[in-house]
Amino acid sequence: MNRTTIGASGGNGVHATAKFDAVVIGAGVAELYQLYPLREFGLHVRAIDAALGVGGTRYWNRYPGARVDSEGYVYPYILSESLYKGWSRSEKCLSQPEIERWLNYVADELDLRKDIQFGMTVQSAHFNEAAERSVVAINKCPSG
Ligand SMILES: Cc1cc2nc3c(=O)[nH]c(=O)nc-3n(C[C@H](O)[C@H](O)[C@H](O)COP(=O)(O)OP(=O)(O)OC[C@H]3O[C@@H](n4cnc5c(N)ncnc54)[C@H](O)[C@@H]3O)c2cc1C
Repeated sequence: MNRTTIGASGGNGVHATAKFDAVVIGAGVAELYQLYPLREFGLHVRAIDAALGVGGTRYWNRYPGARVDSEGYVYPYILSESLYKGWSRSEKCLSQPEIERWLNYVADELDLRKDIQFGMTVQSAHFNEAAERSVVAINKCPSG
């Protein structure tokens, strides 16, 4: 397969490409959920996030008092039963730091980081019909 090419250009004009079966944009709660099964299907996948860590909105929104307003097991992942054996939450409506810890725990337990590129922004993505290939252009974030 390998129908997706990622092209990365650096500040020095160097251009590197790599081929993947699928590209996931982001490493938030939904994207971690996408990445794992795609990889389990045997696909060569790469997730890309402008952030320097997992969590998405939970990475970026870390102002004092940030938390969910839903009770219950926030962001449950039915991907792996074993995930829940080593984790217990401390309160009903979790605070941002605890959610971020949970998402980092998920990333570590499922060994997701090896397939995530942090500190890179997806600039464009288009399908090249002639080549029958998607082309995704990424750039290093100024802060990354
Ligand atoms: C304070 C707060 C409280 C909330 N409370 C609740 C609640 O109680 N219950 C509930 O269900 N939901 C709640 N939400 C909403 C919930 O957290 C979000 O809906 C959810 O986290 C979205 O996850 P996501 O993975 O889809 O996207 P995001 O978390 O937004 O992650 C997307 C990621 O993609 C990256 N990205 C995007 N575009 C690019 C690009 N071009 N290149 C590189 N990277 C890119 C971003 O950097 C980001 O890290 C709350 C949100 C906030 C902020």
